[in-house]
Amino acid sequence: EIEILPVRDRDGGRPRIFLLVFSDRTAVRQTDRIRTDFVANASHELRTPLASLTGFIETLQGPARDDALARDRFLAIMRDQAARMSRLIDDLLSLSRIEMKRHLPVSEAVDLRAILTKVADQMAPLASDMGVAIETDLGPSGLEVAGASDELMQVFSNLVENACKYGRSGGRVVLRLRTGAERGHPVVDASVEDFGEGIAAEHVPRLTERFYRVDVGSSRAMQGTGLGLAIVRNILQRHKARLLIDSEPGRGTIFTTRFARLSGNAGEAQIKPEKS
Ligand code: ADP
Repeated sequence: EIEILPVRDRDGGRPRIFLLVFSDRTAVRQTDRIRTDFVANASHELRTPLASLTGFIETLQGPARDDALARDRFLAIMRDQAARMSRLIDDLLSLSRIEMKRHLPVSEAVDLRAILTKVADQMAPLASDMGVAIETDLGPSGLEVAGASDELMQVFSNLVENACKYGRSGGRVVLRLRTGAERGHPVVDASVEDFGEGIAAEHVPRLTERFYRVDVGSSRAMQGTGLGLAIVRNILQRHKARLLIDSEPGRGTIFTTRFARLSGNAGEAQIKPEKS
């Protein structure tokens, strides 16, 4: 951006010198735009269930006042809509809490095996309700990364929940831990694999955007908020960890998180070379 600022002489006469100011405001504008979009999207997402609630309240006060059957049905729907709003607000709050901490370093030494074991145990009932079995392939304990354990629990809970929701047709989800090296540095890969429908390649780069969903119809039916992977991305950024997504439509998806390794038994379970 170029601005031309006239500089007048002391007695306020005609400008004699011009200052040319060059500045790059593209980054600032883009952040502003993303923020505005986010507020617009969040408002829209909250307004939809709210509009439905208002509609049902009016119906119950008017035409359906004396219809006991309709009342029960409407109240059940209203409860679902209220639950949806509550999930959205929870996710929005999580996201904003995490974004505020995004640049703070993490200091705890966290055992990833313990985290994955806990997540597998906690998610097992939900998975089993969906007809999915959670399997683990974790190797030895003592693989530590610098982290915040509550945030890492959230990362893997979100990934496992997605694997169960979108991969339920595969019937099982596998949590895996592998060690390896990347450019000479020891790393740990923690992955969540499902054997469901997979994700078409064109969607993969956008999955971690806030409110991005591949198929809004089915994702809504799956009770998603579209914020789960955005939360995952923000937490991983704080951990300087990477998210690798390997999906094959019709076969399933592997979400892999890659951390720098602090300690542990190197070489017990080497990372397989990545598929090209
Ligand atoms: P949502 O609340 O909709 O699940 P997420 O941010 O967690 O939001 O995921 C974004 C979208 O990515 C989902 O709506 C779904 O379309 C897709 N997705 C996420 N995980 C998987 C998976 N394991 N298999 C297939 N699609 C997935």
